[in-house]
Amino acid sequence: MKTDTSHDLFTRARDLMPGGVNSPVRAFRSVGGEPFFAQRAEGACLIDVDGNRYVDYVLSWGPMIAGHAHPAVLDAVARTMRDGLSFGVPNPLEVTMAETLRKLVPSMQMSRMVNSGTEATLSAIRLARGATGRSRIVKFEGCYHGHGDSFLVKAGSGALTFGLPNSPGVPKALADLTLTLPYNDFEAATKLFAEAGEDIAGVIVEPIVGNANCILPRDGYLQHLRELCTRYGALLIFDEVMTGFRVALGGAQARYGITPDLSTFGKIIGGGMPVGAYGGRADLMRQVAPDGPIYQAGTLSGNPVAMAAGLATLELIQAPGFHEALERRTHELCDGLEAAARDAGVPLTTNRSCAMFGLFFSEQQVETYAQAIACDTVAFNRFFHAMLRRGVYLAPSAFEAAFLSSAHGDAEIAHTLEAAREAFREVAAG
Ligand code: PMP
Repeated sequence: MKTDTSHDLFTRARDLMPGGVNSPVRAFRSVGGEPFFAQRAEGACLIDVDGNRYVDYVLSWGPMIAGHAHPAVLDAVARTMRDGLSFGVPNPLEVTMAETLRKLVPSMQMSRMVNSGTEATLSAIRLARGATGRSRIVKFEGCYHGHGDSFLVKAGSGALTFGLPNSPGVPKALADLTLTLPYNDFEAATKLFAEAGEDIAGVIVEPIVGNANCILPRDGYLQHLRELCTRYGALLIFDEVMTGFRVALGGAQARYGITPDLSTFGKIIGGGMPVGAYGGRADLMRQVAPDGPIYQAGTLSGNPVAMAAGLATLELIQAPGFHEALERRTHELCDGLEAAARDAGVPLTTNRSCAMFGLFFSEQQVETYAQAIACDTVAFNRFFHAMLRRGVYLAPSAFEAAFLSSAHGDAEIAHTLEAAREAFREVAAG
């Protein structure tokens, strides 16, 4: 496999950017080796600067649920772009976006567009603190909510991959206001609320954890959090940056039938452009400036080109049967991967939720963060490289969920399973 062009670029980049990248996990530190540089992408595939083609299960970390470079999305962007890139006054697409959001996710009575998932979550907790007059927030070990100071406490994703769960630069006084809980532990949540419930502004949770691999909520767990928040007057915030529009058209809140007070979105909502959103109960959102005193703003928020890409993507995923087809594909793929691992004698279990899944090099079905981090990362890293050499790109860390798009067809799944049969044999050989 020729990789000279990527190697040359990475050599230049390392001198110019921390780790040679603009977001840490892209540097491949956890799996070792060097990243490839993308030249272009189409459908389910990434094509690198050396001409190698990869079936992509990262999908720009989630946004490309309709496949890369979907013609309908590109056309919407091109059409919108010709009228200007940014106006700094309201544009009609923002209204359509807020209406679409409310239609697909009814708890989003009112919303505010921002430019990333990070901005969405930090705006949501400011609102929770402002609206309740309380300072403490609760998050879960291994959940990642972007790189806002309050969230870099026992965080997942890159912060977990690099073993930096508590980042230098986050003032202790602020970090002390973030309480952490083990996800899926009913009793720990009950106990924390009994001790500190009156001080808690809000609980922020990835309803399905996607930043410590992929962990599903135990039966009744999200309902338990809902009840605790209601009882103690704390706000329940679902961070659906990853799960939104992916695990169901209405997100995890539709899948589990829970109504959060506030929600955050990103990724799919921008169709590949930099977009995030937060929103929820109208009485809370009316406390945001200029209706209310809680300040939050953005020069490029609601950008027309970004709205066009997001709206075109949201249009595509409303096609009848879209998520059902994705869910069938995920089962087909995960069943095939489990069978291939079994044949090679490699312990592997999977967790799945529609177009999102996780591979665990473990004998156990994983339900907790502690189980997720106990998996065999050496085996994962070997598997990752064995798959990459065969043209299949998985997230370059054992602690990330994998994604499927509607462009992953029979050929891509067959290619992936063929590669996996060989890759598991390599893992078994050690
Ligand atoms: N919340 C969740 C659940 C995420 O997965 C991410 C990013 N992967 C974020 C927030 C932060 O989003 P962004 O990287 O767009 O700032």
